[in-house]
Amino acid sequence: MSEPRDGARAEDRSASGPQPRCALLAADEPPPVLAERRHGRSSFVIVVDHAGARIPRSLENLGLPAAELARHIAWDIGSLGMARRMAAALDAPLVAQNYSRLVIDCNRDPRVASSIPPMSEWISVPGNIGRSPQELAARRAEIFDPYHAHIRALLDERQAAGLRTILIAQHTMTDEYKGVRRAMHAAVLYNRDRRFAGLVLEMLRRESGLIIADNEPYFVSDETDYTIPQHAEARALPYVEIEVRQDLVTEEAGQALWAARLAAALAAAEAAFPAAGS
Ligand SMILES: [Zn+2]
Repeated sequence: MSEPRDGARAEDRSASGPQPRCALLAADEPPPVLAERRHGRSSFVIVVDHAGARIPRSLENLGLPAAELARHIAWDIGSLGMARRMAAALDAPLVAQNYSRLVIDCNRDPRVASSIPPMSEWISVPGNIGRSPQELAARRAEIFDPYHAHIRALLDERQAAGLRTILIAQHTMTDEYKGVRRAMHAAVLYNRDRRFAGLVLEMLRRESGLIIADNEPYFVSDETDYTIPQHAEARALPYVEIEVRQDLVTEEAGQALWAARLAAALAAAEAAFPAAGS
């Protein structure tokens, strides 16, 4: 998609007729980024790309009924509650996205069509069809860019301070996708670098009765992901992307259980990870 510079020229805006809607977020709406514990002492930085289900008011629910906006197509159910508890247990910085991935997917390169998806699963997203380049650019400028700029600045700051960083991309996945029920409880995902993810997998698999998938049903790639390739692999930081099945963490009890389990696995993996490799 084209990426016009901020704002059309003045004459475009002063044309008669309806004004192009370039401002996405109203002053009373939450900022795109939720950040906590910036100076946490952990090596881990936890990011949650799909933490929120909120739709900016100006987008009028993207033309979708409330029931659809509560489903996994809009956000990673349970991911924020779980990640916050992990961050607290580990004393790790947390950066999360407040708005729905249907507005703009913060784990997709904005240049790919599914960044602002016209379809999700089998659902058409009316509010994402036929939008002007200015409207699409506003979603990037007001949501995607500030979120990733925040992560970039945090990682720059840690690098400058000589702090070790291991990036954790926390997600949840639907228990049933296109009618197929998933058996695994969680999954450990990676792209080019399996070093840290392999250790996390090993630690999680020590607990009997759990099915932990190795790089499935998804894997990280430059086409389907943005956060890990851009923030971890580009800096040669160790990382892991974790998916937990959403039905296990819909309620707070499940979030607490999985947060404790994942925090313990991450700490054990870090202890086993060679310092020279960081
Ligand atoms: Zn996700």
